[in-house]
Amino acid sequence: MSDHYDVVVIGAGPAGYVAAIRAAQLGLKTACVDSFVDKDGKPALGGTCLNVGCIPSKTLLDSSKQYHTLLHGLKVHGISADNPSIDVGAMVGRKDKIVKQFTGGIAQLFKANKVTPIAGFGQLQAERKVLVTAQDGSTSELTGTNVILAAGSVPIELKSMPFDGDYIVDNAGALDFTQVPKRLGVIGAGVIGLELGSVWKRLGAEVTVLEAMDDFLAAADADISKLAQREFKKQGLDIKLGAKVTRAQVKKKAVEITYDDAKGEQSLTVDKLLVAVGRRAATDGLLAEGTGVKLDERGRVEVDEHCWTGVDGVWAVGDCVRGPMLAHKGSEEGIAVAEQIAGLPGHVNLDTMPWVIYTEPELAWVGKTEKELKDAGIPYRAGNFPFAAIGRAVAMNESAGQVKMLAHAETDRILGVHMVGPNVSELIAECVVAMEFKGSSEDLARIVHAHPTLSEAVHEAALSVDKRAIHKGN
Ligand SMILES: Cc1cc2nc3c(=O)[nH]c(=O)nc-3n(C[C@H](O)[C@H](O)[C@H](O)COP(=O)(O)OP(=O)(O)OC[C@H]3O[C@@H](n4cnc5c(N)ncnc54)[C@H](O)[C@@H]3O)c2cc1C
Repeated sequence: MSDHYDVVVIGAGPAGYVAAIRAAQLGLKTACVDSFVDKDGKPALGGTCLNVGCIPSKTLLDSSKQYHTLLHGLKVHGISADNPSIDVGAMVGRKDKIVKQFTGGIAQLFKANKVTPIAGFGQLQAERKVLVTAQDGSTSELTGTNVILAAGSVPIELKSMPFDGDYIVDNAGALDFTQVPKRLGVIGAGVIGLELGSVWKRLGAEVTVLEAMDDFLAAADADISKLAQREFKKQGLDIKLGAKVTRAQVKKKAVEITYDDAKGEQSLTVDKLLVAVGRRAATDGLLAEGTGVKLDERGRVEVDEHCWTGVDGVWAVGDCVRGPMLAHKGSEEGIAVAEQIAGLPGHVNLDTMPWVIYTEPELAWVGKTEKELKDAGIPYRAGNFPFAAIGRAVAMNESAGQVKMLAHAETDRILGVHMVGPNVSELIAECVVAMEFKGSSEDLARIVHAHPTLSEAVHEAALSVDKRAIHKGN
């Protein structure tokens, strides 16, 4: 006899654990199966995000920022410090402690909400049965009136340079270096490569980022990515675009990289190599024969706009389905599915999904880029405002960057907002709200923003759409 639940969730990352908690809040008997084990070989909830993604990377970004500010950012304030030093062990230890605090927090939340956690690898069988294989190889079976697949994603490994956990590493490895590498190579100038490259650069590594594409951060608005690239260059991050890596080999305690660029074959030797070329859905072994659930050409679970797989009672959310691989996207899908199962309406608007890159300066955006509007032939007006004209940003000595707002030329509805600058990870929320409420640039221009705050840059960018920004020429 298998244990029966109203909802069985496979995966306890931000998509799965949030789905499980919301389902339990709605009175549904819920179990959540997860196979993640931490560095000590113990089961840990929270998935990629809490264990080896969002939270540990932001923790190290913050620690490394403190050190970098101490070295380079205080003189201007009239403050000096003699011989600052770092203890990488303590820094990584603090990160591990914070990770444990949050993964343990999920266990508490499961307990409080009566979600049953089940450690092991879950495989969906026909008729919504879930076969669970524990770490010791023993198996058990659950059935669910509903099953939510939330298996997440794993780093893409290149056959020519497999991860060895020491010299050639993925995100998890780059969060756990025991000392600052003298020379760090990063393949891929995406979010993960730039964030983790920034951590070790601030701590003193020479960082070279090799990116195969010719455009820097092609997903971002071109004005914003250009500005960010300029700032990263000033910081000494060596970003080589159009650099296609062909080989990486560990030789004499170093990694020898060969890549092709416009000038021909090049080589580079580093002490550690982070391969951050993207992530793929973790669907290997997730589906037994005969479930009826389909995978697309990229191995992602196929779903409709409601995260339904097309098979009665089977849903899928988060990184293992289409759409951006972002924790908040997965969590909102998890909530929407739990609510639909409980007979409530549930929907996630992918068009107003905020994106953030936590570098220095930060990048954040929502909605369409200027190029996307041009390509679609949508008439628009653009407003821009630089942080250099914002008193608070100058007082903080963080005045690089700008806010750019794009609004429909006829209706004035906000179509996209793109930012690079201090704390834009927080500023973007206001723009997401405005867009969700179908707001116009005029709406934001008429809303009072406290002075002196960074949010004045959003206000001024909104005014600038109509060429009436106060603190710059229009
Ligand atoms: C270094 C790094 C930094 C990041 N920073 C950010 C950020 O700042 N903001 C942001 O929004 N996103 C960030 N991301 C992305 C974010 O981590 C993911 O989008 C998010 O974790 C996806 O959530 P998920 O629940 O879909 O999957 P995951 O978090 O990957 O969780 C899936 C879970 O399911 C388990 N699992 C998989 N298959 C099975 C199975 N068959 N049976 C049982 N368990 C299974 C996995 O072990 C895992 O625990 C970052 C990612 C990385 C790597």
